[in-house]
Amino acid sequence: MKRSKARSSGTSSNPMPVDALVYPRFSGVATFMRLPQISRADELDIALIGIPYDGGTTYRPGPRFGPRRVREQSAIIRPWNPALNINPFERFRIADYGDLSINPLSIEDTFQRITAQLDDVLKADARTACVGGDHSILLPILRSIHKRFGPIGLIQFDAHNDTWGGYFGSPHSHGTPVRRAVEEGLLVTKDVLQIGLRGQVYSKDDFDFGREHGFQVVTSEELHRRGVEHVSWYLKRLARRPVYVTLDIDVVDPAFAPGTGTPQVGGLSSAQIIELVRSLRGVNIVGCDLVEVSPPYDNGDITSLLGANLLYELICVM
Ligand code: MN
Ligand code: MN
Repeated sequence: MKRSKARSSGTSSNPMPVDALVYPRFSGVATFMRLPQISRADELDIALIGIPYDGGTTYRPGPRFGPRRVREQSAIIRPWNPALNINPFERFRIADYGDLSINPLSIEDTFQRITAQLDDVLKADARTACVGGDHSILLPILRSIHKRFGPIGLIQFDAHNDTWGGYFGSPHSHGTPVRRAVEEGLLVTKDVLQIGLRGQVYSKDDFDFGREHGFQVVTSEELHRRGVEHVSWYLKRLARRPVYVTLDIDVVDPAFAPGTGTPQVGGLSSAQIIELVRSLRGVNIVGCDLVEVSPPYDNGDITSLLGANLLYELICVM
């Protein structure tokens, strides 16, 4: 495991969540997990970054509001994870890096901005945990990751495979990032693991691209039949090879996560996705994201709350 940037011995110099016994959880300006906002990546091991862009959505929009609402709902996250026996904030210097600058009117310009800004973070030797935004932002993130780490594997939690050819003449939407990433040579395709795919597609050819490139796939139906421990075989196969983890909240059933753009019934429960993320412990994760949380379609903030918890679980396994 990478050494933390903590300068003094002990952990007291790490950025820490605001003490809830001094300032109650409902008070103050919302940041991810009530951490300080620090936009100097050289001071961080893990940067929590908002990317409020949803110009790649094809059905219900709204994930541009994801980072804000996830910040707000993350106020209830406490630091110690009993299931994994870890306090990530003691182990690593983690803070809210703020939001990247995006262009709501241009997907191409937004992609360039995302890559340029993430390049700076990665050059400073910090890992990134991004909160979208729709899934189109995965491509510019992977472009930065590739510059830093070369071709790597991908663990994608998603109801959809996101390997569409294009959309209305554009090569970019939230349905295309995985295909574009493969075409650009950003991924080790035999180390692509898609978990939770389900639902209707346009034709049976929709799975050809992944099959031809040797993607590993665990469908939602398989998970329901064989249990989440079925995934551990695939994770062991990855050994310590570097992977990027992308979590599309629509992998979760709309009964648990209605606030998303392209809901598919028959998905995972909150408990199942949390168990799956925890099972990534030991995987060599170079970065991660949580995407497709759409607060305008949420009920009682349950999707944003789950998203905040999944972001926390992701940094615990990083
Ligand atoms: Mn997706
Ligand atoms: Mn999806």
